[in-house]
Amino acid sequence: MSGDAKNPYDNACGQIKICAAQMDIDPGLYEILISPKMVHTVSLPIKMDNGEIKVFTGYRVQHNDARGPYKGGIRYHHEVSMDEVQSLAMGMTWKCALIDIPYGGAKGGIVCNTKEMSIGEKEHITRRYTTMISQFIGPYRDVPAPDMYTDAQTMAWMMDTYSVIQGYSVPEVVTGKPIGLGGSEGRAEATGRGVAIILRETAKSLGMKLKDSTVVIQGFGNVGVNAAMTLYSMGCRIIGVSDSRGAIYDPVGLNPSKVFSHKLETGSVEGFQGSEKLTNEELLELECDFLVPSALGNQITLKNAGNIKAKVIVEGANNPTTTEADKILENNGILLVPDILANSGGVMVSYLEWVQNINRQHWSLTDVNQQLEAKLVSSFKNVWDMKEEKGLNMRDTSLAIGVGRVADAIRMLGLFP
Ligand code: NAD
Repeated sequence: MSGDAKNPYDNACGQIKICAAQMDIDPGLYEILISPKMVHTVSLPIKMDNGEIKVFTGYRVQHNDARGPYKGGIRYHHEVSMDEVQSLAMGMTWKCALIDIPYGGAKGGIVCNTKEMSIGEKEHITRRYTTMISQFIGPYRDVPAPDMYTDAQTMAWMMDTYSVIQGYSVPEVVTGKPIGLGGSEGRAEATGRGVAIILRETAKSLGMKLKDSTVVIQGFGNVGVNAAMTLYSMGCRIIGVSDSRGAIYDPVGLNPSKVFSHKLETGSVEGFQGSEKLTNEELLELECDFLVPSALGNQITLKNAGNIKAKVIVEGANNPTTTEADKILENNGILLVPDILANSGGVMVSYLEWVQNINRQHWSLTDVNQQLEAKLVSSFKNVWDMKEEKGLNMRDTSLAIGVGRVADAIRMLGLFP
């Protein structure tokens, strides 16, 4: 979907500018906050299955580590760009600070289309990329995780490649690994589960009933599926979902497990029995209580924000809404729960995985989910209480808390030399 002209990095800086103006952040500190500390671009020559050599581009942006090691996912997508990765890395810094875990922010990506690649080609590209960035990552330096079109298998290849280079096994270099390699119970579901917890807390604070409330979810991957399943189990009616091929709608309600089985069988949610076919654009504009964008960035823009009929938007994806769209939604009385709060369950359980790995422990699903629940409920409460007190919207409030904590850390550390 076309955006509002601005690139994602400028959009992210614009949000921080608004936030800095409301806080005691001077221009010099603002410059530090918006400048990524290190930016790596790597070239990845890969021999494809047909013998042809193709050269791909990969990025790793390490935005800020004032509060701890860099942390952030790796995305494989043909639209990955340096601007996008920089904005996502910045978002990770604020997200980790907002939920108060001892990490900075980073993000990585490779410009490629995994749908056109074999499993062997995906392994080659992952191992080459890991080798190229291996000197910049590490358990106390920068800890990658999965993002769009990467998964536990991708993390297993990254862990193995890094471990081969080090000469010993280093599970704590990545999170989101398979459980058999030190992955945490509940990590695969954590982001979507967290989205559902934050949505539930929002409903409670607004006095909205969760049972039978209508939910529309864009994107039916890791985040979308797990959010849908958890919300369904909480009594919500999932009336529309979509993936990159198209969208489906059923006003009576979809059973997400059955839709997921259909997607596994056919490759898409499209054609699910009894559902009506829609475009992704139509899906976003459906009348519903909660709209949960859980795919790409830049989906709610100047172009369609005025047509959104949801009462509340809960951002499962990173950067799905542009700054211009934010203003339109606010003017139309639509409450927006921002990405750095709504999808922070993923990095929370990544943190728990890292702590388990470092201590050579393995916690039960109950332990992990209890910690996830407690962290998200308290982070939500902090944001909600401050929003009520200061009369700000939820994005500005979340950023004020996250950016404020990073600014405090930078002030305490001082400048070297
Ligand atoms: P994924 O690759 O598992 O799934 C992405 C889904 O989006 C797929 O169903 C795909 O078909 C769909 N999609 C792609 N293009 C689309 C389009 N144009 N319209 C509609 N659907 C489309 O990715 P994911 O891990 O679920 O990530 C989704 C979003 O959530 C991303 O913005 C990501 O940065 C964010 N996020 C992910 C995590 C995590 O732990 N995986 C954590 C925080 C945030």
